[in-house]
Amino acid sequence: MIYKLKRKSKKEKTLPLIDKTGAIIKKKPDLKAKLDKEFSLFIRLRDAMPNGYFKCISCGQIKPFEQADNGHYINRQHMNTRFDELNCNSQCRHCNRFMEGNIQNYRKGLILKYGETKVILLEAKQGITRKYSDFEYEQLIKYYKALNKKLRKEKGI
Ligand SMILES: [Zn+2]
Repeated sequence: MIYKLKRKSKKEKTLPLIDKTGAIIKKKPDLKAKLDKEFSLFIRLRDAMPNGYFKCISCGQIKPFEQADNGHYINRQHMNTRFDELNCNSQCRHCNRFMEGNIQNYRKGLILKYGETKVILLEAKQGITRKYSDFEYEQLIKYYKALNKKLRKEKGI
């Protein structure tokens, strides 16, 4: 007997992801993006002063909390330091977005904030490959979410 195949509409043509056992894989939420969001908020809340302002790590200007970026000293493409609390600091938009991070002054700001030894140790972390498991992502997201809630309350932001 010949069965006529049902013609599929264009919408149905997108094939679902299937694992080795043939089960359909549900697309996971982007855990990296979720952690980026919580971690960035944590850095900005941590660096916020009680009056709702922050000081840019690079140029030292005082600006409102709403204008803070989470600025990475070592570029965020390096996973080993992407979520490093020392590598990330509140930075003004001008330095972060228009001055390529204002890196020379960022380094000076880091030394003032943490001391030279810690900065040198941070720089040594560059170039080391680091992969996060889904479990690590989930735990870190949970950790920073709770911390952000606490910080928001404390700082009234
Ligand atoms: Zn700045």
